[in-house]
Amino acid sequence: MYALAGFVGLVGFVFLAGSQGQVHKVIIGIVMLGGAVAIGWLTKAKAPERTIVQKVDLTGDIEKEQLKCQSCGAPLDEKSVSLQEGAILVKCPYCGTSYHLEEAPKW
Ligand SMILES: [Zn+2]
Repeated sequence: MYALAGFVGLVGFVFLAGSQGQVHKVIIGIVMLGGAVAIGWLTKAKAPERTIVQKVDLTGDIEKEQLKCQSCGAPLDEKSVSLQEGAILVKCPYCGTSYHLEEAPKW
């Protein structure tokens, strides 16, 4: 979406720069630049929400099957795992233990 905003803004700038006093090109350029700002603003406004959703999905998909309580070894589901301040918080429903889980390196 940022690429789209950049492209629309660039086209708008080209119209403005090459308008040579032609009113309709100036208007098109201003509209394009305004559109680029709007797209960028909308993308920025929506971005944090999407990031959080993606993180939760990642946790559920990748670590759900292999996740076990470090204390009692009971299997943990998505309800036992939550995100707090960027860290994964695990709360075991069986023994009541809660701890922060560090993301395992992929190599
Ligand atoms: Zn446990």
